[in-house]
Amino acid sequence: MNVFVTGGAGYIGSVCVEELLNAGHVVTVFDNLTEGHRSAVDPRAKFVLGDLADRELVARALTDARAEAVIHFAAHALVGESMQNPGKYFRNNVANGLNLLDAAVAARVRKFVFSSTCATYGVPEKMPMDESLPQLPVNPYGESKLMFEKMLLWYRQLHGLEFVAFRYFNAAGASKKFGEHHRIETHLIPNVLKVALGQKEQCEIFGTNYPTPDGTCIRDYIHIVDLAQAHILALAPGRAGFFNLGNGSGYSVREVIHACERISGQPIKSIEQPRRAGDPPRLVAAADKAFKELDWQPKFPKLEAIVATAWDWHKRHPQGYRD
Ligand code: UDP
Repeated sequence: MNVFVTGGAGYIGSVCVEELLNAGHVVTVFDNLTEGHRSAVDPRAKFVLGDLADRELVARALTDARAEAVIHFAAHALVGESMQNPGKYFRNNVANGLNLLDAAVAARVRKFVFSSTCATYGVPEKMPMDESLPQLPVNPYGESKLMFEKMLLWYRQLHGLEFVAFRYFNAAGASKKFGEHHRIETHLIPNVLKVALGQKEQCEIFGTNYPTPDGTCIRDYIHIVDLAQAHILALAPGRAGFFNLGNGSGYSVREVIHACERISGQPIKSIEQPRRAGDPPRLVAAADKAFKELDWQPKFPKLEAIVATAWDWHKRHPQGYRD
């Protein structure tokens, strides 16, 4: 298929583009490079530098690409930042995303695949979390993604746009070529590995008094290549709806730090900090729907295997991408 990928220069997008190309698809990447990196775009893909705020450019790029499917990664995705600057999230993730949605309808795109998040559930009443749980976000990031999910439902009903929306749990790890490099790194695993690389003296643990066995937050980490594979499966005809993508196992912040110590062979110093605003204590997926309906089978479900690929990439790219 001709696939138009927004945010294809970002962490999740870059690996998905690589996997799409490996599977024989023709890919156009659309990215404004504010968060992404030009060198993270697989050279086999066509690249368009552009911003989703530019409605005409989005529409033209989509038509030029003869897009049959759109995979929409481009978004702001930091819980903490969204609590400081909610407008940034609603503007980019909702308003700018709407330009893409309208362009997809106009270009008669057959399938729209959307990166949503488990943050749409807020503080879940049940664990593990399946897709039927109420969605009551506790931060503007989750709210902005939920608003987009709702737009997708209306666009399906009123314009016939078929979609798959993935509610990601915590993406982590790397492919052989592409890994995680944010200019300002806030994510747990890369920050812990910076200590192992000798780039930081210590990592921080945000909150030690959560109602969890060791007092730190629990997340479900999912390998980036497994995540990418689900997007490829979503392109097949007849696959539609909302799907959680996670492994069903939760690991606390302290457990992640210990896994990083084991994989890197380095002791990792940490300091305890207050809670980070907007963080639910525990998020663990029930992803049975994706297993059954998409035939999705994660290849790297274990935290240590996920961390090992991240460590391998960071050792080979200690400064990340050069651009
Ligand atoms: N976290 C932490 N120290 C860090 C970064 C994150 O303790 O340096 C915690 C964070 O509060 C959350 C978990 O680790 O409970 C995962 O955070 P991350 O930012 O990686 O992903 P999120 O769950 O926010 O998408």
